[in-house]
Amino acid sequence: MQSVGQYIGIFGGSFDPVHTGHLLVAQAAIEELQLSRLFLIPAACSPFKLDQQPTPAAHRLAMLRLAFAGRTDCEVDDLEIQRGGTSFTIDTVRHFAQKYPGSKLFYLIGADNVPKLNQWRDANELAKLAEFIVIPRPGDAPALLPSPFQGSYLVGHPFGVSASQIRARAKANLPLEPLVPAAVSQFIRNNRLYQTESKA
Ligand code: ATP
Repeated sequence: MQSVGQYIGIFGGSFDPVHTGHLLVAQAAIEELQLSRLFLIPAACSPFKLDQQPTPAAHRLAMLRLAFAGRTDCEVDDLEIQRGGTSFTIDTVRHFAQKYPGSKLFYLIGADNVPKLNQWRDANELAKLAEFIVIPRPGDAPALLPSPFQGSYLVGHPFGVSASQIRARAKANLPLEPLVPAAVSQFIRNNRLYQTESKA
């Protein structure tokens, strides 16, 4: 059992790669929800992207660590990568509920994922364990949380960039900053990532 204070945020995704949109979400969540800590959790394999081959987990993890280096309010956690296989949110949320029993958990979810939230694995238990916070994304209609989920909406700093765009820009050899932090841009170039990108 550990304690990091009362409010804990969980922000999961493919992070292939992490980009400035994710950083803005993290900052807004910490401030608006008064989080003691925000955990960034790269998926081993997203249940929504089973048709895509993600960049090796070690690279996605390294880029997240570069993006959040030096932050004491954010922690990159590789538990889904260590668990391997398809990354189901319920397994991750259960882990945090057991590890931090006195804390309130907030799970950040992109507006694009909200309509199908009630089809997520063990939705009833998930809804009991965490409050869901909907992240605004430019171009996505405001999405109402389906029953039994409860939560609220981040105001944030809506910023219309996606990892797919970054991959396409890397492949086309276009500048990546400031759409990703400088260290992440450097990592992508040094490791020649996304040169054969064929995903949408
Ligand atoms: P892709 O383009 O590969 O689908 P992505 O950038 O949309 O990637 P993820 O890396 O899986 O998505 O993002 C993790 C989470 O961050 C998701 O909940 C996603 O909706 C959210 N997110 C991604 N980009 C933004 C953005 N620009 N603004 C707000 N939320 C975002």
